Amino acid sequence: MSADPETSVVESLPSTPPWLDHLLQQWETSGTQRGHAFLLVSEDPEEAALFSSRLAVAQLCHERQADGPCGRCRSCHAFLQGTHGDLMDVQRQEGKTAIGIEQIRQAAQFLQQTALYGNIKVMMIRDADQLTLAAANSLLKTLEEPAGNALLLLSTSAVWRLPATVRSRCQQLRLPSASRSEGIDWLAQQLGTDAQQADRLLNLTGGRPVSAWAMGETEEAEQQLALIRSFAEMHRQASGSPETWSAVGLDVLLRRLLGWTEDNVRGLDNDRFASEARSWLLLHRCVAEVWSRVQQGATPGKDIVVAELFRLCRSRGHHRFADLAQVFLSNLGRGGVGG
Ligand SMILES: [Zn+2]
Repeated sequence: MSADPETSVVESLPSTPPWLDHLLQQWETSGTQRGHAFLLVSEDPEEAALFSSRLAVAQLCHERQADGPCGRCRSCHAFLQGTHGDLMDVQRQEGKTAIGIEQIRQAAQFLQQTALYGNIKVMMIRDADQLTLAAANSLLKTLEEPAGNALLLLSTSAVWRLPATVRSRCQQLRLPSASRSEGIDWLAQQLGTDAQQADRLLNLTGGRPVSAWAMGETEEAEQQLALIRSFAEMHRQASGSPETWSAVGLDVLLRRLLGWTEDNVRGLDNDRFASEARSWLLLHRCVAEVWSRVQQGATPGKDIVVAELFRLCRSRGHHRFADLAQVFLSNLGRGGVGG
């Protein structure tokens, strides 16, 4: 955070993208009429979580303005520092595969304590679809009648995974999706980048702008963009596979290769479809075979697989590509990839 606390604090408050404005206004005007348990549903888990944070900070603010939280009060400051005593942010812990019952029990106890800053306590559950069944069951009573004045904000991108008992106890808010151009404009503005780069980042996250934003400033995004560039520049590579292929995990490389071949098939016009679709689909099948073996637990020698995949990708335009692909596929059974 920069040296000027007044401006930096206001700017750091979660602000939602413009395509969520309408929903946000509806929320603000519903005031005291609304309930206490909400399920925020979006295709983009980061977007649902961002919206949840935005509602939470406004609810906790002591000097709430017509357009949202003030960004100056004690509560807003504490929120930004991640030290707000009346906010519980529940999410899957690192190294765990789900949100466990113990986390939900602690959160329920937290709601029972007296509010420290104001008169309300807020619990956010991010990616609520990751609750174990036991955790979800232990949450039911809190959803029905939380102790004291509380707001419960569950967010998810996979609402069907939540038990019906949880869903029926929450009011569902479905977040509208951004159009492609809205997503690009907003993302370019957030990251201070051009539309082309924003477009590439959107591709990395399946067209989900808030996820692309979250990823945009990480090393991972740079790495993945370099990977995608390397696909386009494959034929300029003098010898051996590009360094970027070795720099990422095999699963990342395989997933991107699958996406790349799919994009290329989709991008074929009618004239080229007849001549090129077959080789792209064959290449896709080869990569998919390796992918499925890795998914099933095979641990192939990465260097060998990367070198072979690269050779295969480079040969796609060759008139004997179909034969090469067949050899690759038949070698998978005996070779390094799983056996
Ligand atoms: Zn405030």
